Amino acid sequence: MPTYEYECTKCNKQFELEQRITEPPRKRCPDCRGKVIRLISGGGGVLFKGTGFHVTDYRSDSYKKSAEADKPKPPADKKSKKTSDG
Ligand SMILES: [Zn+2]
Repeated sequence: MPTYEYECTKCNKQFELEQRITEPPRKRCPDCRGKVIRLISGGGGVLFKGTGFHVTDYRSDSYKKSAEADKPKPPADKKSKKTSDG
């Protein structure tokens, strides 16, 4: 669980909080209930990267061939086994 640093804008109190990434940031100072801001910690263990991801679209002959070769197969015949022996 990452640790976030907060600073109160009212009493300038700095405190740390362990929160999940999905948790919303704290907004109130536990001391004076004032408004707090979250500090961006540098060199910490948590590294936030962009949420975007790259999509490399490339067209090659081998890809087309493989796509053509992927024909729908005929349904396999079902084998019903009777186990009423007794
Ligand atoms: Zn405060």
